[in-house]
Amino acid sequence: MVTQYKNLIGGELVDNGKWIDVVNPANEQVIGQVPDCGQAELDKAVAAARAAFPKWKKTSVEERRACFAKMADAIKANSDELMRLLTSEQGKPHMQAGSEIAGCVGMTRALPTLNLEEKISEDSDKRLSRTRRVPVGVVGGIVPWNFPVLMAVQKIVPALLSGCTMVLKPSPFTPLATLRMAELIADVFPAGVLNIITGGDALGPLLTSHPDIDKITFTGSTATGKRVMESASKDLKRITLELGGNDAAIVLPDADVAKVAEKLFWASFYNAGQVCIAAKRIYIHEDIYDELSAAIAAYGAAVKVGDGAEQGTAIGPIQNKQQYNRVLELIADAKEKGYKFLIGGDHDPSIPGYFVPVTVLDNPPEDARIVAEEQFGPVMPLMKFSSVDEVISRANASDYGLAGSIWTSNPEAAVEVAEQLETGTVWINESMHLAPNAPFAGHKQSGFGAELGEEGLLEFTYPQVITIAREAA
Ligand code: NAD
Repeated sequence: MVTQYKNLIGGELVDNGKWIDVVNPANEQVIGQVPDCGQAELDKAVAAARAAFPKWKKTSVEERRACFAKMADAIKANSDELMRLLTSEQGKPHMQAGSEIAGCVGMTRALPTLNLEEKISEDSDKRLSRTRRVPVGVVGGIVPWNFPVLMAVQKIVPALLSGCTMVLKPSPFTPLATLRMAELIADVFPAGVLNIITGGDALGPLLTSHPDIDKITFTGSTATGKRVMESASKDLKRITLELGGNDAAIVLPDADVAKVAEKLFWASFYNAGQVCIAAKRIYIHEDIYDELSAAIAAYGAAVKVGDGAEQGTAIGPIQNKQQYNRVLELIADAKEKGYKFLIGGDHDPSIPGYFVPVTVLDNPPEDARIVAEEQFGPVMPLMKFSSVDEVISRANASDYGLAGSIWTSNPEAAVEVAEQLETGTVWINESMHLAPNAPFAGHKQSGFGAELGEEGLLEFTYPQVITIAREAA
């Protein structure tokens, strides 16, 4: 029998006797089961979070920080087990799964060092006026399947640090490592402060419409984000949305081809391209297009795609069948339209697992589906440009505005280009770096609000202004 993982509700590890199968995307075998919860279990979790809130919001920041220190220690002490579990459910190679778990430890240690200090807006003869931050209440957290544990941690830590309590819902595709983490930290917080429950497609909408949840923090696709916003509008729940992206990477003519080829490859193919901030549209200046595209194709052809648990694998499978079919559909469309492939494009349907070969396209048109849509797979369209103004307008011609990157041997000069990109994050000569003390905030349809940094923490609070007149009543 496969291992059955429990939910964390009101400090207890529980199940309801109904189960969802979780599949390893590298071989399509069932590797675990998690509870299939509905309204009844959600009500219990929300009631537990509500009951825990009055006491938790009065704890000092030092008390909360002590809990996070224990949480980080528990994750670190069990890193190897969590890493293996994450590879088996998500597909990513061990090395990348290890980085995700190490990122969880790092975030759990670093985010609690953020401060929400009171601000004095007036200190005069007439009055003393100060603004403090108070927690919004019970938070519902919804997490996607690409970085399931890190995304969970990035919601749990700031929510609880601000004094909120939480009900977190992992993706039904990747709940195992998160539930194992829940088991490891079940005693770290007072009962009910953190609840983690799993369920199928119906559970997300139940959570976003629950009348006793005050705020939703959601990471996932833009399409689902819009549904979350609509649902939250009924009782004006506060929302933070971290959504999809179609990030442009711009390679200026002075870039060092040999150095950039490998970095750019991983900016696109890390986690099999299933990264919201992956480079999904690569614009290369015409002067170096042929040389760089050949270098990227040569590098990509030597990279091993396979089971993330096998040594030497650098790119794992697509995480689930639905997304696998979507990526295959985009590739089929590109073939049908006659676009040129430098490498990849053909998959072997007889092999079990959701494997897509490393696929690089040669200068498809801007309106190709594989360019205009978020691929979220191991696919990299390379496009030629001839002037900086032209490439800035092509990069900005998207409803998304998550991140972007610029590659050059003159980084200072590239700042002027960076400032013209309509995205929340721009990297020069690197990619995917997010820091606990800097806000990560999608512009346009890539998000609403911010995660990380002080801005991210503020999203779990209301401002409250208290004014004392100097003259006694
Ligand atoms: P998704 O939107 O399908 O699902 C995300 C979560 O929402 C899952 O837990 C799912 O069960 C739940 N859900 C589904 N329907 C819901 C509904 N109607 N109401 C409430 N919850 C619902 O996204 P995904 O396929 O899991 O993840 C991939 C997407 O996430 C990509 O678009 C990617 O760019 C985006 N993403 C964004 C970030 C970011 O920080 N901006 C990070 C990771 C992934």
